[in-house]
Amino acid sequence: MKFSYKILLCTMITLAVAFGIGGYVFVNDVFKASLDRETGQAMDESSILRFAFETAALNIPSKYHMLQNSVIEEIGANLEKSGQVTGRLLRISDEERQVLYASEGFVEDTELLNHIQEKTRVYQILHPDEEHYYIQTGMRITTLDRVLYLETLRDVTPVYGERTRGFAVYRNLTLLILVLSSVFLFFIASWLTRPIRLLTQAARKMTAGDYSYRAEQISGDEMGQLTCDFNHMANALEENICKLQEEVRAREDFIAAFSHELKTPLTAVIGYADLLRTRKLDEEKHFLSANYIYTEGKRLEAMSLRLLDIIVTKRYSLDAQETKAELMFEYLRDMYGGHEEHPLVFQYDPGVIRAEVNLLKTVLLNLVDNACKASEEGSRVEILGEKREEGYWFAVKDYGVGIPPEEVRKITEAFYMVDKSRSRSHNGAGLGLALCAEILKLHESELVITSVLGEGSCFGFLIPYGEVKE
Ligand code: ADP
Repeated sequence: MKFSYKILLCTMITLAVAFGIGGYVFVNDVFKASLDRETGQAMDESSILRFAFETAALNIPSKYHMLQNSVIEEIGANLEKSGQVTGRLLRISDEERQVLYASEGFVEDTELLNHIQEKTRVYQILHPDEEHYYIQTGMRITTLDRVLYLETLRDVTPVYGERTRGFAVYRNLTLLILVLSSVFLFFIASWLTRPIRLLTQAARKMTAGDYSYRAEQISGDEMGQLTCDFNHMANALEENICKLQEEVRAREDFIAAFSHELKTPLTAVIGYADLLRTRKLDEEKHFLSANYIYTEGKRLEAMSLRLLDIIVTKRYSLDAQETKAELMFEYLRDMYGGHEEHPLVFQYDPGVIRAEVNLLKTVLLNLVDNACKASEEGSRVEILGEKREEGYWFAVKDYGVGIPPEEVRKITEAFYMVDKSRSRSHNGAGLGLALCAEILKLHESELVITSVLGEGSCFGFLIPYGEVKE
C-alpha cells in the first residue's frame, strides 16, 4: 500500500474513532439530562398526586371513619381525569398490594410495588415492548388508618426516540465529514509525500545508471533535509564511481601497455636467438645478434625492477626523517659532476625538510635524467630549491622539447611515453614518473608540471618542513 494511502487510512480511522466516541458521549449526555429531567418531573408529579389524594380523602365524609375501597377507586378515577392531558397513568393498591384502581393501559408489572415498603419513594424505567419506555414511580400514602400504594406511569418514549435520532444524525454527519475530509486529506497526504516520490524517482534513475540525476528539494523541513543529504550522498557516490571507473581504465591501460612493452623486446630476443640457433653467422653478425639479445634483456630487467619499485612503493609506509635540503642538491652535484652534455645550474635556499632521503633522491635523479634526455646537448638544466609558505619547493627546469598540453596529465601514468622511439632510444619504458608520483604520494605531495612545447618544462613538488624550520 502506498505511503500516502497509509497516512490517509490512519487519519480516517483516527477521525472515525474520535467522532464515534465524541458523538456517543455527547448524545448520551444530552439523553441522560433529558431523562433526569423527566424523572424529576415524574417524581414531582407523584408527590402532587399523593397530596391531592390525601386532601380528597380528608374531604370525603366517611361513615366508618375509615377509607372505603370504593372511595379510593372514586378518588383514583377523579385524579386520573386530571392527568389525562399529560397522558399520565396511575395505580392505587391496598395494604395487601391488591390493586384497587388502575388506569387503563397501566402495566401489569408489580416489581416496583413490592419495593415501596422499604423506601417511601421509588422509581424505575420500564420497557414493556419494543417501542415504549415509561418512568414508573411508587410511594406510600398513609391516610385515615389506611396504608396505600400510589404508582404513576409517565411515557418517556420521545426521550428515547430523541436519543436514537441523535445517534442517527451524528452518524450521518460523521460519515459526511469523513467523506469530505478524505478528499481533502488525500491531497494533503499526496502533497506531504511528494518529496518521497521525488527521492524514489531519483534513486530509480541512479540505479538505471544516470548518476548525475539529483532529487529536487521542495521543502525546508526534515524531508527537505533528507533530500539534501540524499543529494550529497549521490555526489559522493558519483565521485567514487568516477574514481573507480578511472582506476579500472588505468588498470586496463596499464595491462595493455605492459604487454606491449614486453612484446617488442621479446619478439626481438626470440628472433635473434632463433637466428643464432638455426644459422651459422659470421663473427660480426653473431656479436650483433648476441648484443641485441643482451641489451633488450637488460631493458626488460630494468623495466621489471622499476615495476617492482612502483609496487613496493605503493605498499610502503614512509620512514621520514628530518634532513637539510642542501644535502639533496649536494648529492645531485656529486652525481652529475662530470656531466658535460648538460651544464647543471643549482640555485637553492637552505632549509630543513621532513622526508625519506633515499626516496627523495630517486625522484630528483629521475627528474634530472628526464630533463637531460629532453634537452639538446649543451642546453642547461636548472635545479632549484625555494622556501615557500606551504613547504620546501624542489624544481627541475629544462629548455628542451617540452610536452604537448594534452599529454601533461598522462605522463605520470605507467608506460606512458610522449615520444616512444625517443624514450626507448634512451632505454626508457615510461615508468620513471609513475614511480616519482608514488613516492611523492607517500610524502603527501604531488608533481606539478608546467611545460611549453618546444621551449622546455619544469617539474616541481613540495616537501613538508621539519620541526626546526631553519
Ligand atoms: P621514461 O623512463 O620513458 O623517461 P618517464 O616516466 O620518466 O619514463 O617519463 C615519461 C615520458 O614523459 C617520457 O617518455 C617523456 O616523453 C616525457 N618526459 C618526461 N620528462 C620530460 C621532460 N623534462 N621534457 C619532456 N618530456 C618529458
